[in-house]
Amino acid sequence: YDIAELRRLDIAHHLPAQADWQEIEDLGGSRIITHADGCYIHDGDGNRILDGMAGLWCVNVGYGRDELAEVAREQMLELPYYNSFFKTANAPAILLAEKIASLTGGRLPHVFFNSSGSEANDTILRMVRHYWQVKGEHSRTIVISRHNAYHGSTVAGVSMGGMKVMHGQGFPAPGILPMAGIEHVRQPYWYNEGRDMTPEDFGTACAQAIEDKILEVGPENVAAFIGEPVQGAGGVIIPPANYWPQVEAICRKYGILLVCDEVICGFGRTGNIWGHETVGVKPDIIAMAKGLSSGYLPISAVAVSAEIVQVIKTGGDFVHGYTYSGHPVASAVALRNIEIMEREGLFEKVRNETGPYLAEKLATLRDHPLVGEARSVGLLGAVEVVADKATGARFGGAEGTAGPMVRDICIRNGLMVRGIRDSIVMCPPLIITPSQIDDLIGIIRTSLDEAEPKLRA
Ligand code: PLP
Repeated sequence: YDIAELRRLDIAHHLPAQADWQEIEDLGGSRIITHADGCYIHDGDGNRILDGMAGLWCVNVGYGRDELAEVAREQMLELPYYNSFFKTANAPAILLAEKIASLTGGRLPHVFFNSSGSEANDTILRMVRHYWQVKGEHSRTIVISRHNAYHGSTVAGVSMGGMKVMHGQGFPAPGILPMAGIEHVRQPYWYNEGRDMTPEDFGTACAQAIEDKILEVGPENVAAFIGEPVQGAGGVIIPPANYWPQVEAICRKYGILLVCDEVICGFGRTGNIWGHETVGVKPDIIAMAKGLSSGYLPISAVAVSAEIVQVIKTGGDFVHGYTYSGHPVASAVALRNIEIMEREGLFEKVRNETGPYLAEKLATLRDHPLVGEARSVGLLGAVEVVADKATGARFGGAEGTAGPMVRDICIRNGLMVRGIRDSIVMCPPLIITPSQIDDLIGIIRTSLDEAEPKLRA
């Protein structure tokens, strides 16, 4: 490729996701990623960059897997596409559904496919409301979520998500965005909002906020509570250990469905197959995407309890589905991707080796003058950049500006991470080795050193 020409065309025609289009134009176009292998991406300027984000929290098995390309090729030749609208199905989709059901230990035996995490959550919103409708409890429509949650970019995803900036863009009128019937409660972000309490007291207070909301709107009006076991795009917010078990108990107390968004946390990210295992709850429905296919093809899924499906079946047709629901090629790739993760013992590796190693190495950053907190669960981590370690005071006010600045320095130094407000977050491929973790932490330290005089200037 002619990289300069690609950059020109990028500015002229291509609108990248969630980006500042003007800034990209001012920079002369996007960084063109040309190829990738293992844990590294390569750009058009010849840089090799350690991918501390596994793409966008998804390339669990790393880049360059021949067998995923092979299985896609074979499936494309055999049956490249067919839908599941005409009482039709295909082998890869059926076998993938069975595999996902078995990974839930049989607790969530029914699986519905979509193409993205956002669509999975749209499906869930319709499904939980439809479930209560069929049951005759028509008032149960409200879904409770958290501030700063991320559940996608569709209108329903943005609404269930708790990103204020997203709520303000598009249709910032009451009842339109966020959609009516979605309520948000505080997030369990101890470092930002709870340091005047013990983590345990803060966990209880955040769970209590859910019960307070339920009582405020009336339990008979609440359909479900949805949450990421660990909020990812919000800044890798790891809740106190006592939070989720209390959330589950509250949902059970009022007969409210418990939904876990496993789009980031699923498939080994937190050291177990599912994030809900790590935080110790048993949801009624889960959403998954990303690691399901390691991003090699777009596919997402919703796994549902037998009880919910039994009820919905009594209501006739559930008129919901996508052209690409149960896509045979995406399903075949996802199935093989899961096989690779199991064959290579990646879930166990994260739990017993690389997860604890990342935690140990992150802890070494705590002595840095800019580091307020360094936390991780499995291979999902964050470093809080602060102006004052003692008080936790931020650079640049409440929303924080240090994260993107340190991120840009990290990228220049050969490490892709994400800067979220004042945090640097990481989510490397599950195949990352201890020596690559050393590199990752080393680059963060060097980049913090470089950033400090600029931030304090
Ligand atoms: N849910 C969570 C927890 C996510 O992190 C994301 C994406 O980052 C989504 C949903 C939306 O997934 P997608 O971008 O595939 O629509």
